[in-house]
Amino acid sequence: MAEESSALRARVIAAARDLAATGLSPQMSGNVSARQGERILITPSGIAYTALSPDDISEIAMDGEVLAGPHAPSSEWQMHAAIYEAFPEAGGIVHAHSGFATVLAVMKREIPPFHYMVAVAGGRNIRVADYATFGTAELSQNAVAALRGRRACLLAHHGQIAFGETIEAALHLAHEVETLSAQYWRALQIGEPELLSDDEMALNVEKFRTYGRKG
Ligand code: 13P
Ligand code: ZN
Repeated sequence: MAEESSALRARVIAAARDLAATGLSPQMSGNVSARQGERILITPSGIAYTALSPDDISEIAMDGEVLAGPHAPSSEWQMHAAIYEAFPEAGGIVHAHSGFATVLAVMKREIPPFHYMVAVAGGRNIRVADYATFGTAELSQNAVAALRGRRACLLAHHGQIAFGETIEAALHLAHEVETLSAQYWRALQIGEPELLSDDEMALNVEKFRTYGRKG
């Protein structure tokens, strides 16, 4: 196995283990992938993340052809492939059934600009993709539509999905989406929070472009 591929497989496993260890996605739910040129390295379907070794990671072409790996690739491989094809800047993707994001997703409540951090996902809100059966091309298209101008969305009656330039950035964003979902849900217990204006959110989106970068 080429060194580059094995290093990337290790990063896919580290992100998948984080889902289990932090409780971001319960049991075997969720999946993780990284783009490797024209190929995708993705977690196998229905296998506990704690048990994964680098050889277990599926290597697939964008059309789903399995190029390496002993298991079936994640049932959501089409959603990962569609995101890589629609968003050239995507280098890694994390899909999770995280608790509070999933509560909002089952209620079809998008995350509005109740907190400036909503801008971390790229825009004024975090949308909810229309429901479609898991593992279908229809769900892939619904997710891509909800992700336009964003790097994360909720998936109705399902969970959330986030992408980043790297797999670590995608994982970080998935955690941010869960934190925001929990804060929004808690705010809703008191009442409907006042929302930030479009101008203010545009400013926050712009600030996130350079946030944490030197110079
Ligand atoms: P896989 O185990 O096939 O990746 O499926 C988990 C999941 O979250 C489906 O939406
Ligand atoms: Zn799922």
